[in-house]
Amino acid sequence: MYTASLQSLVDELGRLPGIGPKSAQRLAFHILKIAPEDATRLAEAIVAVKENTTLCPRCFNVAEGGLCTICNDPRRDGAVICVVEDPRDIGAVEKTQEFRGRYHVLHGSLNPIEGVGPDQLRVRELLDRLEPEGVTEIILCTNPNLEGEATAMYLARLLKPLEVVVTRIASGLPVGGDLEYADELTLGRALEGRRPVDA
Ligand SMILES: [Zn+2]
Repeated sequence: MYTASLQSLVDELGRLPGIGPKSAQRLAFHILKIAPEDATRLAEAIVAVKENTTLCPRCFNVAEGGLCTICNDPRRDGAVICVVEDPRDIGAVEKTQEFRGRYHVLHGSLNPIEGVGPDQLRVRELLDRLEPEGVTEIILCTNPNLEGEATAMYLARLLKPLEVVVTRIASGLPVGGDLEYADELTLGRALEGRRPVDA
């Protein structure tokens, strides 16, 4: 129905999450219409993000070689670490403007059915940060769903014998949801209302 290059663009766009065949078509025709330099900028941005993006060696947030912007910021409080599942969750917490500490990105949550255990997550790396960074509080900010809660409980038990206060964001977030879908007011309140975990 289309030319080979147009069809290939529709196919590639259609492989993106949340993009159905109709949207893929619409986007492809949009790209076809825009100025060549705009299309080039889009293509170059995709290539650049793949070439330049690394993980922060301290917190495993996205970075561009070396520490991420948050770890590099001297105004951030190194004594408090907010543990999240995904780098996108950092954006959600930052929007609340309630948190001035640092982060730790697990890159997933415990999910025995899909074979994700503690070794597949950045758990060991979290423990290794406690002493050198003088961490006094760990806020477990995993998603308010089954896997996120299981991950929080696992970490709370693991951290219990160590000299650190472990807190969990307050309930009140939409259960079963993802942090990134919570509005900043709700998430801000959940952070503020965090409580020590009894593990
Ligand atoms: Zn970092």
